[in-house]
Order: sequence, then structure tokens, then C-alpha cells
Amino acid sequence: MENQELLARAIEKWGIEAQQKQVIEECSELITAILHRQRGKCTDADVVTEIADVSIMCEQMKLIYGARRVDAEIQRKLHRLKERLGYVVEADDTTHSGHLHDETSVLQKGGEK
Ligand SMILES: [Mg+2]
Repeated sequence: MENQELLARAIEKWGIEAQQKQVIEECSELITAILHRQRGKCTDADVVTEIADVSIMCEQMKLIYGARRVDAEIQRKLHRLKERLGYVVEADDTTHSGHLHDETSVLQKGGEK
């Protein structure tokens, strides 16, 4: 079963309202994990778990609100971010974000600002 199909089944089983409450709960858990991490009360792995939970719920929100609309908005915001970071943005460069992609996390690179 594809991930998208699995997520769609979750929405069918529990309903849109319940999944929207769940995304709120998962966001809250991520906020708490980041705050606890900053105080040394949990590990990076705990934060990673909460990031995964939020990501899964955001994928469900995309299915509810329209993945194409969300993806288009993500591209628009990445384009704006590129401009704010001083990258030269070409006229037809709104669909490619690959140049900024890097599998290494900022923490692994040894620097958080
Ligand atoms: Mg969670």
C-alpha cells in the first residue's frame, strides 16, 4: 500500500475533524520536545520522533486541503526564502528547489545559530 493511500484510509477511518485535532496535538508535542531538548530534558531522537509525527499529519492535511495547492504554496514560500537569503532568482526558477536541498542536518554540520 502506498503511503498516500494509507494516509487517506486514516482520514476515512477517523474523519477530518479527528485528524485536524490530531495535527494540533502532534504540533504541540513537537513544540514541547524542542523546548525540552533546549533544556537537556530529552534527546535529538525524541525531537525526530515528533517531527515524524507532525510530518505524517501534515501529509494528511495536504490530502484534506489539496496537495497541489499546498505544494504550490510551498514552492512560492521557498522562492521567497531564496530571495531573502540573497540567492539570485531566475524568472523560471519557481519549480526547482533542489539546489538548497541537503541531506545533512544543521546539527550534524555542527552549527546551529
Ligand atoms: Mg507525537
